[in-house]
Amino acid sequence: MHKNRINILGTEFDNFTQDQFHKLVSTDLDNHANKFIVTPNPEIVLSARDNTRFSNIVNNADYVIPDGIGIIKGARMLGTPMHERITGFDTLMFLINQANQKHLKLYMVGAKPEVINASAARIKKEFPNIDLVGYHDGYFKDDGIIATEIAEKQPDIILVALGSPKQEYFINKYRDRCTAVWIGVGGSFDVFSGTKKRAPKVVQKLSLEWFYRLVKEPTRFGRMLAIPKYLHLIKKESKNNN
Ligand code: UDP
Repeated sequence: MHKNRINILGTEFDNFTQDQFHKLVSTDLDNHANKFIVTPNPEIVLSARDNTRFSNIVNNADYVIPDGIGIIKGARMLGTPMHERITGFDTLMFLINQANQKHLKLYMVGAKPEVINASAARIKKEFPNIDLVGYHDGYFKDDGIIATEIAEKQPDIILVALGSPKQEYFINKYRDRCTAVWIGVGGSFDVFSGTKKRAPKVVQKLSLEWFYRLVKEPTRFGRMLAIPKYLHLIKKESKNNN
């Protein structure tokens, strides 16, 4: 269905430069298209491997974007190199800047109450042309209430920060209620609000952001074991291909 995608352990990635991707999404916003963006990292690729429902949702998204150096490395090892990494956080910033330039309606859902409040405050202060039509923290009991609010407000861009796979399930369930660009942004509001710091530029350039996060949040160690497991599976598959 989606031709020319690059298959990494069952997840099918689009192979765009960041610039190409931004142009496509900018046109989608101008055309008022209904689009779903997912930004899988190695951990998400592994969880999709064990979860057919999640995998189908990811592979049927309109854009599947490689968030993280692990995906780029994996693609190279499999003999199907990709242009470049496009992070979820940079995509979030691109969409917010587009909303500001084009005077669009924005809706944000996810993260802890203090994080979403601080994120909304930053939008109002730094992006004055955005029409922030609503926002809600990510710890609700009834997702129908959020969906109803989205259907009423008809935003142009909907940012969903519930972590994976929750955010992708939410978008898949409700994307027909509103013609918008929908994206799952994971922990990005924690960074956007200033609650968590992103790694310094030099660490980002060296592709060691994952290491920075591990040092800052040692409880992520369990989750990070996904990376060696992922690389092991990639090695196995690349041997089979040869
Ligand atoms: N979260 C939420 N509701 C939930 C579970 C998680 O709003 O029921 C939020 C959480 O506060 C955090 C984000 O979802 O802001 C997920 O963060 P994580 O670091 O796990 O995401 P990643 O960027 O690693 O995918």
